[in-house]
Amino acid sequence: MGIRVIEEKCKGCKLCVALCPFGAITVTKKLARIDIGKCNLCGACVEACEKFTAIELIRENVQTVDKSKYRGVWVFAEQKEKRIADVTLELLGKGRKLADKLGEPLCAMLLGDQLGKLARQLIRFGADKVYLAQSPQLAMFIEDSFAEVITGLIKEHKPNIVLLGATTLGRSLAPRVASRLETGLTADCTGLEIDTESKDLLQTRPAFGGNLMATIICPNHRPQMASVRPKVFKMAQRDELRMGRIIKYDYKQHTLTQRAQLLAVVKEGAEATNITEADIIVAGGRGLGSVENFKIIEDLAQALGGAVGASRGAVDAGWTSYAHQVGQTGKTVRPKLYIACGISGAIQHLVGMQSSEIIVAINKDPKAPIFNVADYSIVGDVLEVVPALTEEIKKVRTEDKELIISDSEQESELVLSS
Ligand SMILES: Cc1cc2nc3c(=O)[nH]c(=O)nc-3n(C[C@H](O)[C@H](O)[C@H](O)COP(=O)(O)OP(=O)(O)OC[C@H]3O[C@@H](n4cnc5c(N)ncnc54)[C@H](O)[C@@H]3O)c2cc1C
Repeated sequence: MGIRVIEEKCKGCKLCVALCPFGAITVTKKLARIDIGKCNLCGACVEACEKFTAIELIRENVQTVDKSKYRGVWVFAEQKEKRIADVTLELLGKGRKLADKLGEPLCAMLLGDQLGKLARQLIRFGADKVYLAQSPQLAMFIEDSFAEVITGLIKEHKPNIVLLGATTLGRSLAPRVASRLETGLTADCTGLEIDTESKDLLQTRPAFGGNLMATIICPNHRPQMASVRPKVFKMAQRDELRMGRIIKYDYKQHTLTQRAQLLAVVKEGAEATNITEADIIVAGGRGLGSVENFKIIEDLAQALGGAVGASRGAVDAGWTSYAHQVGQTGKTVRPKLYIACGISGAIQHLVGMQSSEIIVAINKDPKAPIFNVADYSIVGDVLEVVPALTEEIKKVRTEDKELIISDSEQESELVLSS
């Protein structure tokens, strides 16, 4: 696709300049000029120039594929140290729904070494088939090799949809595979649905800095590829009785180019803040007022055995590190319990936590948008409510402990007397 200004029609009125969101148009000597480096072909200027029709989007003859040859929803199964990543189970959960809607099979691709047990697990979690490529050469993730094997598999079996986790690994792999297959990729999706008429995959993701949600389709190419952030979808349920097929894939027919060599795996030494895996998150926002006050969030999280989350407001203020940030430019979380303290509930924060099972919000403003997503709303001062909650939880926990200790004491007495 391209764009051009029809010189004889342009009046130099500058309407297009005002409406171009990318600042890609300038008018000199009464003629609009488009900087192709800045333009993203959104078409806003074409609409702006409706009166003079002096700007034209040039659509090339698009090569389309025979869609009827493509079947199945495929999930790339990410694993680390022989443990399936949670995001894979989430994709299997969503993938199952998409596949059922299309009446197509759900398949997983698993690459690595000695992963037979994991392949069986993928079936228990909803896959109808697992394509398994195994060898010591694939034991560690090397982008080139993995991309090569996956591209080969996809070319051979022609899936309709391919989903990957938007993890560090998935983000590196997905574009490599998409470009080899010459198809589109929507990165970091937060929603996936099937269009009832066209049967195309509707891929929703935040756009323009999170100010709007864009739904993207890939109507002319196959497979339709999307990466999805962890914790966006619910994990698939395990079913011990599920049966499926494990198909060993002879990847050796592909020449594995290995431009990179893995020398060592260095584990991060820093505090292992992984809020994406926490069941309970206590998150603090600007409403706390200071770094000293932010400590009450850590105290409550500790009392509950949970992790500390934060709004960008709190992170920008330097009260906690970026690793704790929840939201569009932070992490997406889906804990069982999310307590938002002094957080207004801006859309960029909500997209990162609104799928939590139970949301408790504490805010002194009864009109704060966070209350729109909260299951329990506490209108009050965080500096009073949070310490009171912490105190109460500590008390309940101590009573529970005493109960357990006295129970076990009774048990040991029984053992001694018998
Ligand atoms: C491109 C982009 C990406 C962004 N990404 C993210 C992101 O990933 N995560 C994120 O969180 N934000 C993100 N933001 C910022 C977001 O728009 C908000 O500015 C931010 O979430 C506000 O943080 P906050 O709720 O802590 O602060 P504020 O909006 O200032 O809200 C503070 C709240 O605390 C309440 N309050 C004040 N004092 C008290 C008190 N004593 N007791 C109880 N309540 C009190 C107030 O009523 C208010 O509702 C992004 C913005 C942009 C433009």
